Amino acid sequence: MCQTALITGISGQDGIYLAEFLLARGYRVIGTARHADCARLQFSSALIGQLIVEEWDLLDQAKIFNLLACHRPGEVYNLAAYSSGTGMYDNPADIGEINGLAVTRILEAIRQTDKNIRFCQASSREIFGEAIESPQTENTFANPRSPYGAAKLYADAMVRIYRQRYGLFTCSAILFNHESPRRRQEFVTRKIAHAAASIKLGLSDELRLGSLDAQRDWGSVGDYVRAMWMMLQHTQPDDYIVATGEMHTVREFCEIAFRHVGLDYRDYVREDKDAIRPNEPFPLVGCADKAKNVLGWSPQIEFEQLVGMMVDADLTLLGASLKQ
Ligand code: NAP
Repeated sequence: MCQTALITGISGQDGIYLAEFLLARGYRVIGTARHADCARLQFSSALIGQLIVEEWDLLDQAKIFNLLACHRPGEVYNLAAYSSGTGMYDNPADIGEINGLAVTRILEAIRQTDKNIRFCQASSREIFGEAIESPQTENTFANPRSPYGAAKLYADAMVRIYRQRYGLFTCSAILFNHESPRRRQEFVTRKIAHAAASIKLGLSDELRLGSLDAQRDWGSVGDYVRAMWMMLQHTQPDDYIVATGEMHTVREFCEIAFRHVGLDYRDYVREDKDAIRPNEPFPLVGCADKAKNVLGWSPQIEFEQLVGMMVDADLTLLGASLKQ
């Protein structure tokens, strides 16, 4: 009999990649979204035919019991969340509900419905916030700087408590930034990829950004959803940092993206001097040695390859809209 997986936040960047990854391995995949029709707009026609989409707002406590009882998943991946980025400080109480308390509701439903269900929580580098050391490991002191990071940290604690007290197979994937052509447009990587494609096609002529010297540990979504899956296939549940361990600046991202379409970013990218902040003493960069040693996971997509993929996807998207 095929495995069943339930993915919350199926319409998001990671949800779609994880669904494709699991379907390719023969899983039956149930995805949840607040609005099924809106979610379907994000899917390819191939995916629509293969996925079962259920409507679920994570605020609704009772619904998770119904979903688990009805679909009997063997694995649950909790990807639904208020996003990070500029929204990390908005609606702090709602963030606490969805990114924090809702995780407890899912864990409690698993405990009461079927203790054999394996659970993966999408945690975040934002639990380290104002980091006290670099690179961060699973043992680094968590010091969140935003409601988003604080709620994710609470969720991690509950994942650990349900593992230790009730013996559930629960894992937190402490994810550093990961990107893809499906990244939403408010994120800087997608802004750059989109602008490089758009300027190349003559649709715009300038890109305004904050600090070009800001640094990130950027990975590729495909690698990160594979890491989450590998956590649930292991013999023991645990928490893992998922990161590349490499830092790149926004400037490097621009250089590569514009070079990819034969342009020089310095002719088009304008830096907003007001947005420039001093670099943090301990930048957020992850050490994924535990995932490498225990799970045998390592990232396969190089930074330059990732940037190129994102620009190519936006060239295709914008090129197609020009033809219409
Ligand atoms: P995303 O594209 O923003 O997707 C998040 C999904 O959460 C959305 O599709 C949204 O779906 C759903 N959601 C939001 N509020 C909800 C609610 N009240 N009830 C039900 N669903 C709700 O995020 P992503 O990049 O795929 O990230 C996936 C997970 O990884 C998130 O938990 C995120 O915090 C974590 N993470 C991501 C990164 C990264 O770099 N991408 C880094 C660290 C951690 P609907 O609007 O359709 O309901």
